[in-house]
Amino acid sequence: YRFRARPIEDGSGQKCGAVLSFEDHSRVEESENIRRDFVANISHELRTPLTGLTGFIETLRTTARDDPAARDRFLEIMEAEARRMGRLVSDLMSLSRVEADERVRPRDLVDVCAVLRSVVATLEGKLAEADVSVETAGIDKSHQVLGDRDQLIQLFLNLIENAIKYGSAGRVIHLSVVAVARDHTLRCPAVRIDVRDEGPGIDPLHLPRLTERFYRIDDHRSREMGGTGLGLAIVKHIVNRHRGRLKINSKQGVGTTFSVIIPAG
Ligand code: ADP
Repeated sequence: YRFRARPIEDGSGQKCGAVLSFEDHSRVEESENIRRDFVANISHELRTPLTGLTGFIETLRTTARDDPAARDRFLEIMEAEARRMGRLVSDLMSLSRVEADERVRPRDLVDVCAVLRSVVATLEGKLAEADVSVETAGIDKSHQVLGDRDQLIQLFLNLIENAIKYGSAGRVIHLSVVAVARDHTLRCPAVRIDVRDEGPGIDPLHLPRLTERFYRIDDHRSREMGGTGLGLAIVKHIVNRHRGRLKINSKQGVGTTFSVIIPAG
């Protein structure tokens, strides 16, 4: 808070009172802190793979120069690091785009079921690789919302990819769509999409912070799975742009359900 006092003078220049003001600067400072943390996080996330790359280049120039096996191994690691940086940059671009768009309500009528069918088709290879199957309910129908098709695709790609990454292998992901006559929070008819996994679940302690940028529960596992820590932040902004809401229900040892509820079109 900032406190100010200003005297009030009457017509003859005589002091006859004072204006006292308290200004609340906490929100301005908070958003400035968030911005500073974000920049620090990005720098850290980019510097780690860069340091690795620089080190490997040096090794390739010197000790590994005449060792083809070591050279191949190092090149493979370098490629993985470069890909990680590429993913980070493309997620950062998505995030800034959805943040910038957030105030503009999408105007196209989009069939959420068609979006989900195309997302599942896109992920076929990843699902098979992870030995995960998808059980669906209601996605063969048609449910329209006012939406941005590309962003809705990205939203569900992120949620289903997370269910693949963090739900254990050999399990099932349940994907369902239902029409809601009236959502009590949104106060309008809506479409509700549930993405449920049978993974280890999430400690309730983490739930309120899960959609923050770079928030990860298990940092090592997220990086190992190729995560950038931005997926759920992007999801939250896309849901906000669609004037919807995101609900996360999780039970440890049972699984997690991400529910996206969007006003019906
Ligand atoms: P990441 O790129 O690390 O996956 P996200 O923003 O998508 O970042 O997710 C943030 C964190 O939330 C993840 O690091 C993970 O710890 C946790 N998480 C996300 N989805 C799930 C899930 N379905 N089951 C368990 N944990 C999850």
